[in-house]
Amino acid sequence: MEPWLVGIDLGGTTIKMAFVTTEGDIVHKWEIPTNTANRGEHIVADIARSLEKTLAQLGGAKERLLAAGIGAPGPVEEETGMLYETVNIGWTNYPLKQRLEEATGLPVSVDNDANLAALGEMWKGAGGGARHLLFVTLGTGVGGGVIANGAIVRGINGAGGEIGHMTMIPDGGARCNCGKTGCLETIASATGIVRIAKEKLTADERPSELRNGDVTAKAVFDAAKAGDALALEVVDEATYYLGWALANAANVTNPEKIVIGGGVSKAGDMLVERVAAHFRRFAFPRVAAGAKLVLATLGNDAGVIGAAWLAKELVGA
Ligand SMILES: [Zn+2]
Repeated sequence: MEPWLVGIDLGGTTIKMAFVTTEGDIVHKWEIPTNTANRGEHIVADIARSLEKTLAQLGGAKERLLAAGIGAPGPVEEETGMLYETVNIGWTNYPLKQRLEEATGLPVSVDNDANLAALGEMWKGAGGGARHLLFVTLGTGVGGGVIANGAIVRGINGAGGEIGHMTMIPDGGARCNCGKTGCLETIASATGIVRIAKEKLTADERPSELRNGDVTAKAVFDAAKAGDALALEVVDEATYYLGWALANAANVTNPEKIVIGGGVSKAGDMLVERVAAHFRRFAFPRVAAGAKLVLATLGNDAGVIGAAWLAKELVGA
């Protein structure tokens, strides 16, 4: 009987779960809604119950499960698996590792969700096993994960690898969710791209595709691909700052792969090519020569696969 790892990706609206082989292949995946009522007090029990039920449906025995890994949206204390803060869920200083171990009877490892997506891409995705890797996920925000020598850089407060909060505009930048201003996240996230586009649209009366219909990050890239001058300016601004930030981050760790994921990465080759051009301009030449910028390949599965990798490491499977 082949043993399984449990990968869990806890988000603000859904909890993605998967049984994964020790080779990193998903055997079965499913999701349940995140019940944030009463500051998230039902979440751990919901996960344990769903795991048990799904295992029974698949005819599996409890002994088949080796360990669980879980990614959570916030910084994690490495030693104890405690979540400092999760804005979307309402937990503060929440002992997630301990609670989930009690509820499931499995050894549990906890990490930040962007870190797990980075590990997932390293293991089975675009990272192709690269032991030195940078990962950014461009969604509502900009998440980051740094892998050096095959290990995630977590830091003293669990806040290592926060590429999205590198300050790119020192004075007069837009306000960021983290409390600062001028972070990469305010420029290169889907939200940031929309903000820049709207500013340009109100600045003058130039014709643009973007004046017809909703302004979304996808609409900006679609219009840019069709040659829309205003949209091209927006894309150039976002990719300039992203390429610059990635170059500075890469100068610290000299990565082999730089993986770009998240909803905005669906813009595809246009995004990667433009970011790469700015990256090469700003990176130290030997760093630029060693790094390959690529699109993430695992999509929504990156988190559960990375979580399974963490579980595998935990029990040495
Ligand atoms: Zn920030």
